[in-house]
Amino acid sequence: MNPLTIIENGPRVADSFIDEAKINDILARTSKPDKKRALEVIEKAKERKGLSMEETALLLQTHDPELDEALFKTARHVKEHIYGKRLVLFAPLYISNYCVNNCLYCAFRRDNTELRRRALTPDEIREETEILLQEGHKRLLVVFGEHPHKSTIEYIGESIETVYAARDGESQIRRINVNAAPMTVDELRVLKSFGIGTFQSFQETYHRETYRIMHPSGPKSDYNWRVTAMDRAFEAGIDDMGIGLLFGLYDIRWEVLALLAHCNHLEEKFGVGPHTISVPRLEPALNAPAANSPPHPVDDETFKRVVAILRLAVPYTGMILTTRETSEMRNEAFKLGVSQISAGSRTYPGAYKEHKEHLPDVEQFTIHDTRSLDEVIAELCRDGFVPSFCTACYRLGRTGHDFMSLAKPSEIQNFCLPNALLTLREYLVDYASPSTKELGENVIKEKLRDVYERLQAEAEKRLARIENGEHDLYF
Ligand code: SAM
Ligand code: SF4
Repeated sequence: MNPLTIIENGPRVADSFIDEAKINDILARTSKPDKKRALEVIEKAKERKGLSMEETALLLQTHDPELDEALFKTARHVKEHIYGKRLVLFAPLYISNYCVNNCLYCAFRRDNTELRRRALTPDEIREETEILLQEGHKRLLVVFGEHPHKSTIEYIGESIETVYAARDGESQIRRINVNAAPMTVDELRVLKSFGIGTFQSFQETYHRETYRIMHPSGPKSDYNWRVTAMDRAFEAGIDDMGIGLLFGLYDIRWEVLALLAHCNHLEEKFGVGPHTISVPRLEPALNAPAANSPPHPVDDETFKRVVAILRLAVPYTGMILTTRETSEMRNEAFKLGVSQISAGSRTYPGAYKEHKEHLPDVEQFTIHDTRSLDEVIAELCRDGFVPSFCTACYRLGRTGHDFMSLAKPSEIQNFCLPNALLTLREYLVDYASPSTKELGENVIKEKLRDVYERLQAEAEKRLARIENGEHDLYF
């Protein structure tokens, strides 16, 4: 196989790392998995060293309640060992729904003439950010449709600056992740210079024929340009990448293997895999035929199994779940492997000021979990989770390879738990309702005992300083 070569901003070179014949072959070879072998793979996963494509395929193709039980148990174990009970919270901020692509699953598609198009002005972006700050958010994902004039790198940069500049008293957004179309290396360098956290761009489907059908026109119809987006991001010096699949477009077993091939490729070429994997399932969307009738729907049981299998296959890669899922499904997925979640989300530009749960003629898709951030935090605390707004790693430069070298020996945990508690205390002091504050304080009291011994006394001191009005303390 030829190694991938990227010609900066030049011809779009074919990728070689999504080898369809190899994926088909692995799936065929593991189509009737032996139960004993599957149990061995699950046992091996406890070592938290990840799984090969073959091992993953084997688990994806098992249909046995006893194996499912072992799989879920091990996924919970791996998740707890690496991430503890922490769940990092963020909100999406839709900036523009102008789009020149025609993705058959998205309401922002060009042919959806019933959609009201909006690109927020700097004032509107500031207002939206202030509302999110007043809810207690510290981490935002800014989202853009693809448009040569409406979503230029200058507009994206200006939007990011506006978000970072917004304030609510002492509070400000501390990390902005970006979900946007793939860019050239030069554009990505500019994007990095605005101080972004993760650059997200999902392949949606790695299956070329499905990709071709789903993306009939516009720049997104170029499979290779999209699948090499993260290679260019690395070249541009961005080392936190978010990749993802849109569940429901093609056979999910095939897609998961291709996603692993993508992770392996990044790891081999750049020494570090993606920072996060997103697992969105298709949701209904206005005038989006593939969303309203998914070609390969993924049922709840399969969805949970895939989350668990991904947790075992790439244990140190964060997994993101959004409000596309119901609160019931989210609670299950949190235990199985999800490490970051959105809360209090809306999916259209101007949504937070508009304050409507759904607005079909502007939103991208329907969300299921419409609870407020305060409600989500209360429920997480009740279920024994530790809601976190931590951004310490990013701000201390612990990203990419540096992050993974701390994460893999689980050293990061020593910092993560006290940092999560510090950000939770800050939220409780500044923004929580009285009942959520009480629940959150119980979590802090209980989890403080699990903080790494050498940091415990200092963590207590810093928690007290936050109670007394200080902000933004971290390890
Ligand atoms: N326009 C950019 C792009 O497509 O990469 C970024 C923004 S797009 C709004 C963000 C993501 O939303 C897409 O990558 C896709 O995975 C997801 N999405 C689109 N339509 C969806 C639907 N109907 N249900 C769930 N997720 C959807
Ligand atoms: Fe545009 Fe992204 Fe929606 Fe496709 S998924 S129509 S590129 S906004």
